[in-house]
Amino acid sequence: MARIGFVGLGRMGAHMARNLLKAGHQVVVFDIVQAAIDPVVAAGATAAFSSAAAAQDADVVITMLPAGAEVRDAWLGQGGLSKASRADALLMDCSTIDVATAREVAAATGRPFLDAPVSGGVMGAEAGTLTFMVGGDAEAVARARPILEAMGKTIVHCGDAGAGQVAKLCNNMMLAATMAVTSEAFVMAERLGLPAQALYDVCSKSTAMSWALNSYCPVAGPVPASPANRDFAPGFTAALMRKDLGLAQQAARDAGVDAPVGALALSLFDRFVDGGGGSKDFSGIISMIREGKGR
Ligand code: NAD
Repeated sequence: MARIGFVGLGRMGAHMARNLLKAGHQVVVFDIVQAAIDPVVAAGATAAFSSAAAAQDADVVITMLPAGAEVRDAWLGQGGLSKASRADALLMDCSTIDVATAREVAAATGRPFLDAPVSGGVMGAEAGTLTFMVGGDAEAVARARPILEAMGKTIVHCGDAGAGQVAKLCNNMMLAATMAVTSEAFVMAERLGLPAQALYDVCSKSTAMSWALNSYCPVAGPVPASPANRDFAPGFTAALMRKDLGLAQQAARDAGVDAPVGALALSLFDRFVDGGGGSKDFSGIISMIREGKGR
C-alpha cells in the first residue's frame, strides 16, 4: 500500500481521500481550511501542517484544488510540492484547470507529472466511480492506475501532459451546449402543447438522445433521478459549468479554433450564474430559458 500526500479536501477531495483510506492506503492530508481537514482525519488520515509536509516521504502526491492559480502556487510556489516531494514520487493534479497551466506545471516539476481531471461530480467522488482523464507519460499512468482505481471506475489515458484537461474541457463544452438546446426544446414543446413526457419518449430513443436528455432531463418527471425533480439541487453546479466553459473558450482561442456554440453556451451560463443560479445544478438553465431571459 502507498503513502499518499493529498492536498485540497473540498467537496471532491475529501471523498477521494476517504476512498484512498478505504483501499488501505496511508493518507497524509492538508487543506488551508482546518474544518476541511478534521472529518478526513476522523476517517483515518493523518493531518500535515503544510502541503509540503503532506508531500514529504509520500510515494504519491495528489492535489484537488479550485483552479489553475492555486495549482501553480501549490506545486511551484514557495514551499511548493515540486521541491518538497521525493525525486521518485508519482505526482498528479486532479483539479480542472486551464491546459496551459497544466502543461507549465508538468514541465516545471521536471518529473513524470499527470493531469488527471475527473468527471462524475460529488456523487461519483463519494461512490468511488469517477472517470479520470489522464495526460502524461504512459509509464507514470500505469503506476497511477491502481491509485486511481481506488477513487474511480474509468481511467482513460488521453495522451501527453495537458491531454486530460483538453478532454475534460471538450466534454463539458459539448455537455453544456447540449443541455442548453435540450432545455430550449422542452420549453418550445411546452408552449406548443407537446407534453414533456412525449418529447422525452421520442427523443430519448431517437437521434437527439444524449446524456443531458436521457440521464439529466431538465424537466421533472421523465427521469426520476434528474436534478429537475429536486428543484435543481446539484449535481454539478452551474458555477462550475461556467468555469469550465471559460477554460474551454480560452483553450479554443489558444489553439486558434472558432467555437461559437461553446461561446454562446458560456454567455448563457454567465447570465444564469450572474442572475443567482450559480449554486443550482447546471440543468436549471431551463428556468432562465422558460422566463425568456436566454436572449
Ligand atoms: P472546493 O472548492 O470544494 O475544494 C477546494 C479545496 O481546496 C477547498 O477545501 C480549499 O480550502 C482548498 N484549497 C484551496 N487552495 C488551497 C491551497 N493552496 N492549499 C491547500 N488547499 C487549498 O472544490 P471541489 O468542488 O472539491 O472541486 C475541486 C476541483 O475539482 C475543481 O477544479 C473543480 O472544477 C473540479 N471538479 C469539481 C466537480 C464537482 O462536482 N464539485 C466535478 C468535477 C471536477
